[in-house]
Amino acid sequence: MEPDPFRLAGRVALVTGGNGGLGLAIARGLAAAGARVWVTGRDERKNAAVASRDGLGALVCDVRDEAAVARTVGTVVESAGRLDVLVNNAGNYVAGPVLELTEDDWRAVLDTHLTGSFLCAKHAARAMVAQGSGKIINIGSIYALFGQPASVSYTTAKTGMVGLTRSLAVELAAHGVQVNALLPGWYDTELTRGARETEWGERIRHKTPAQRWGEPIDLVGPAVFLASSASDFVTGVALPVDGGYAVAD
Ligand code: NDP
Repeated sequence: MEPDPFRLAGRVALVTGGNGGLGLAIARGLAAAGARVWVTGRDERKNAAVASRDGLGALVCDVRDEAAVARTVGTVVESAGRLDVLVNNAGNYVAGPVLELTEDDWRAVLDTHLTGSFLCAKHAARAMVAQGSGKIINIGSIYALFGQPASVSYTTAKTGMVGLTRSLAVELAAHGVQVNALLPGWYDTELTRGARETEWGERIRHKTPAQRWGEPIDLVGPAVFLASSASDFVTGVALPVDGGYAVAD
């Protein structure tokens, strides 16, 4: 029988912001495909819940702090002997019209999504380049593709993550490391906090060709694909996972 190209047995994965929401769904999916998985987050309580309920490794790490990122990647590599998959998923959202947005608001979002992804990718890539293989998956957003009012920091950060994806892909390809992005549409999580049930949430549903919001499980198949050897010749891609939202008129 042919080996299953989607199987992740023997692979080691690190999912930032994996103690809840989309990151936890991805972490569970990678584990179900056979990977040994660590999640990170800042909240020790949420991490402990994931460790005991899901049996995943869980480490406290603020992705904005390079020393903490280096420690976290070091802990995983020391425990597991390697690091095959990094999912840059940790994220936040600060809404506000640009005329009222403070520099702190701006930095809170840019530092988490963009600088955090750069720092995690840099430290993970060191291990991946040394072992000659690896997968980096950046969780962007369809708002990397177009603008949105009152979201300038978020759309800028997510657009930057696509640039980060492309440049890392080109730089790391010869080392056997593939770098891709998933661009989720609208999903009901802590980040979108009950918006699905509002009139506006209903408008999003209507505008989405699939006529529904995403469920965290919708991201799992694409993430497993990009984490597995099935995608070994795919790099620098930003794949919307949005029920057709980004291509609809
Ligand atoms: P959640 O708010 O449910 O989860 C965010 C996660 O990020 C938590 O685990 C949180 O853990 C962690 N986190 C936040 N800040 C930091 C930080 N500085 N360092 C480390 N971890 C951090 O959001 P979602 O699951 O919805 O979002 C996950 C990703 O998907 C984000 O990048 C988001 O932008 C993206 N996305 C989400 C969409 C949606 O509709 N939900 C749509 C498009 C993209 P802790 O609090 O413990 O730090």
